[in-house]
Amino acid sequence: MSVSTESQAGFLSRRRFFSWVSSLAAALGAGSLASSVASSAETFASPTASSDGEDYYAKLGVPTIINAAGTYTTLTAACMPPEVLAAVQKAALHPVRLHELQQKAGEYIARRLKCEGAVVTSGASGAISLATAACLQYANNISILEMPQAIEGIKNQVIVQRAHRYEYDRAMYLCGARVTEVVTLDDYKRACGAGRAVMTNFFNAAEDEDGIAASAQIGREEWLRVAHEYKIPCHLDAAADMPPISNLWKYTGMGFDLVAFSGGKGMRGPQNAGLLLGRKSLTDLAHENNNPGDGIGRGMKVAKEQIVGMVAAVDWVLSHTEESMQGDYQKRVDLIAAAMKGIPSVRTETVVPKIANHVPHLLIRFDPKVIGVTTDQIVEVLRNEKPSIELNPNTGQKPNQGIPADGNTLVVGVWMLQPGEDVLVGQRIRALLTRKA
Ligand SMILES: *Cc1c(COP(=O)(O)O)cnc(C)c1O
Repeated sequence: MSVSTESQAGFLSRRRFFSWVSSLAAALGAGSLASSVASSAETFASPTASSDGEDYYAKLGVPTIINAAGTYTTLTAACMPPEVLAAVQKAALHPVRLHELQQKAGEYIARRLKCEGAVVTSGASGAISLATAACLQYANNISILEMPQAIEGIKNQVIVQRAHRYEYDRAMYLCGARVTEVVTLDDYKRACGAGRAVMTNFFNAAEDEDGIAASAQIGREEWLRVAHEYKIPCHLDAAADMPPISNLWKYTGMGFDLVAFSGGKGMRGPQNAGLLLGRKSLTDLAHENNNPGDGIGRGMKVAKEQIVGMVAAVDWVLSHTEESMQGDYQKRVDLIAAAMKGIPSVRTETVVPKIANHVPHLLIRFDPKVIGVTTDQIVEVLRNEKPSIELNPNTGQKPNQGIPADGNTLVVGVWMLQPGEDVLVGQRIRALLTRKA
């Protein structure tokens, strides 16, 4: 919780807040909450449920949610489209030789995504680990079994700009690699020249389209040029950076030796799948380190269902145009924005983050003093309703990831909503913003 929202929470006491919640329930009519729960259970039953399968979410008592946030891992990211789901179901019926499936899937994906080699990984994070393992091997000519314990004293550094350090650095440490942090171009040249680097890591969404963010000094083109002068392979983390579809070949085409994408985010493959794309000499080494060998990827198992699911997800993505890939997201944004019309102090705005999550998001700005409720309280009520609605985590936060929110802004990510849920989200938010004190 940010400082500003904490202090806002002060002006609405908890007691007033709870009486407001119960008066809201009363205002909606005694039976209406219950009936809306029942009707939403019908309307919003998992679209993927088959008539003969047991509903294990219900059996386990795990409520399904309305995802008005986005492709967040903690919210189980995307749901697979029917075509992908059908492919997964079919693949599950027959055993195959795993190596053969990995190999053929890699070749197929590489062909479709215009690169030399591809590996279906356990996710983007798994792809970063396999990329690191491949580059450690490539630079040192070591066997896969020697990671991570035997890499002291050999080349083991990954060069990263300070502004590109993030939680996924751990995926590189896992192989025994260490990070050499650089800020200036001179730092970078020195680090490349030191002869200890096996790879560089570039966090794609840390930069704007021109390549250079305020916080980082080296853009993509220059980053590649310098590393390649020293023959150091460059890895790019583009996990959440599709759409646009063309990003799937843009960065390998630019010269990045390896590029990671998450399979379960915008690509809508299985959540536990991802892609490592790039130069065949390196993706072959990544394959060697992957399950079921004895390499670092042994615990990053990708089953036949995920491999086929990822291939089908690639086909599904490529069956779209850039325009159709954006779906009816803008329509959903407009529909929810229209539901806010005429509410005092409320202003709405559409935002499309430049790199990661490059789809329309709705910002709903309001004055809590006029509305009489805080951002945190709205988030809490929506979360506790049935069905539970989860707003984008940038709600109430400082500008981040291309979303210029603040303490008094709700952020609605519309792209993971199931059909009809946009109407419900609009109604619920309107109800909360138009409470009678
Ligand atoms: C989501 C994400 C990852 C991890 O992706 P998984 O597929 O969940 O492993 C890595 N890097 C970035 C920048 C991400 O957004």
